Amino acid sequence: MSLSGKNAIITGSNSGIGLGIAQELAKLGVNVVLNSFTDRDVDHALAAEIAKDHGVKARYIGADMSKGDDCRRLIEEAGGCDILINNAGIQHVAAIEDFPAEKWDAIIAINLTSAFHTTAAAVTGMRSNGWGRIVNIASAHGLTASPYKSAYIAAKHGIVGLSKTVALETATDPITCNALCPGYVLTPLIDSQIPDTMKEYDMTREEVIKNVLLKRQPSKEFATIEQLAGTVAFLCSDSAAQITGTTISVDGGWTAL
Ligand code: NAD
Repeated sequence: MSLSGKNAIITGSNSGIGLGIAQELAKLGVNVVLNSFTDRDVDHALAAEIAKDHGVKARYIGADMSKGDDCRRLIEEAGGCDILINNAGIQHVAAIEDFPAEKWDAIIAINLTSAFHTTAAAVTGMRSNGWGRIVNIASAHGLTASPYKSAYIAAKHGIVGLSKTVALETATDPITCNALCPGYVLTPLIDSQIPDTMKEYDMTREEVIKNVLLKRQPSKEFATIEQLAGTVAFLCSDSAAQITGTTISVDGGWTAL
């Protein structure tokens, strides 16, 4: 079955991986709703550009994924959700004893709890339409840990668990729910961590990329946004109809170590 004419909502999609997923789905004829917490002309312009480039309906809806009511309003305002991509995410790096409580709360809210609210709001419609795909953008850090990222790793392990539970609750419907686990991808989220790491270790940008970021990525290459978007498209395809409740790693071998 073609994905053309399906409706997708991608949270946190005015940049990085989310925007790449929206572009890939639009290329396949899917109508897309872009989202972030801002509501600027440039955000709406991104949606207009996708609509023009791919001949689909595309809209931007501002909604703050740290707020449960906003998460549920996003699904309602979109007016239809066949494909839900829970992608919004933030990061903060600090030792556990110095980890600011408000950063912990924000990371858990945006990276994990938002997916609870959007999924809860979207699943009834998917059931009555008789089709649905939910892809949660987790991380290699949903399967393994690193120091100084306690909130992020707790949230990403949490979203892997949430994906499995939703898959079981929807297993007898034509709905799937999976977690995509990327290794490092050079997006604004990662790029913004480089200057601090350069200072901390007295390293050049290239040294940080090779010796810190890609240290645990055996391929020694970043995964690309296009590779992740292609994997999401596969998970939405008929070939993936029996793939549910699992994780798919796109991490250059990281989790094989
Ligand atoms: P990014 O910073 O480019 O994108 C994050 C998106 O989330 C942005 O669109 C941002 O506006 C949005 N966002 C942030 N706070 C929000 C809020 N309160 N409400 C709504 N939207 C909000 O980063 P990215 O690398 O593209 O990250 C996307 C997802 O991929 C995240 O969940 C991240 O954890 C995950 N991920 C990224 C990498 C990587 O190496 N880049 C690796 C593994 C997993």
